[in-house]
Amino acid sequence: MPVVISGVAIHIECPAWCTVDHAASSSLHLEDVRHESEHVDLKATVVGLPDDLLLFARLGQSLVSAKAYRTAPYLVLDGGDDADDLTLDNADEFADNLVAFATQIRELTRAARDGAQ
Ligand SMILES: [Zn+2]
Repeated sequence: MPVVISGVAIHIECPAWCTVDHAASSSLHLEDVRHESEHVDLKATVVGLPDDLLLFARLGQSLVSAKAYRTAPYLVLDGGDDADDLTLDNADEFADNLVAFATQIRELTRAARDGAQ
């Protein structure tokens, strides 16, 4: 895919998961070119809040970065106010934690329903 760097069009290879139209952006520096995936969302209907988006995640990978881990694919967790980066191994660990968290939430709601009868 062509990218314009300092007025010069160069070709970069995107990973299969990249959804960025690099040709449409007017990046001036290699440091500004970043592959990004689509977002996946974690939603919850919260009493009193109109927005149900708690957190979203996406993949990222920079061509060049002062943060070396960003030149490999990594996961970005964005809660709205700030974002955190996770290595793919840490992202897998986080996913395992979410599964355990979901199980614990089900146990809590089941206990509350059983106790309410
Ligand atoms: Zn890309």
